[in-house]
Amino acid sequence: MTTQSVTLPGHAGHRLRADAANAWERAKKAAGLIPELTDSERPYAVQERIFRQRYELGNHAGKPGYTNDVRTWQGRKWTRRNGTAAAAVPGTSNHGQGLAVDVATKRTAATRARPHVVFSSFNDPDRLAFLKAARPHGWDDTEGRAVNEHWHLTYYPAKDKHAKVGK
Ligand SMILES: [Zn+2]
Repeated sequence: MTTQSVTLPGHAGHRLRADAANAWERAKKAAGLIPELTDSERPYAVQERIFRQRYELGNHAGKPGYTNDVRTWQGRKWTRRNGTAAAAVPGTSNHGQGLAVDVATKRTAATRARPHVVFSSFNDPDRLAFLKAARPHGWDDTEGRAVNEHWHLTYYPAKDKHAKVGK
């Protein structure tokens, strides 16, 4: 399977692994909706910067200012600071592999008109409609639900019923 990433048509500055990008285009067509993206493939350096912003070296679980979210990176424990969102250990995120997107959660002046949509909550009707159409193309929210991020979708090649054969 190819691990090369490609640019996403209609999403300036965003890239995904080639098979995920192909499936994303199919999902958009099937849904008749275009989720606005805030994140997609995330280079390792960016992943590391985000992790370091949110996690502090050492096990500080339960202490003031920290959550109980302790992760191991490069053989050492890191604890997530209070008030920050969870982040994958650098090198393990589906964003790093070009297999995940984050959808915008708020409509702004810059948000293009429909069919461009944002996901305002887990129950946002546009989110539910997009997911229903996108699941047969391998895009699902299993991981997003697990980490309580309604904006995070992941591509699962094994679930893609329409993937091109012989890649
Ligand atoms: Zn994400």
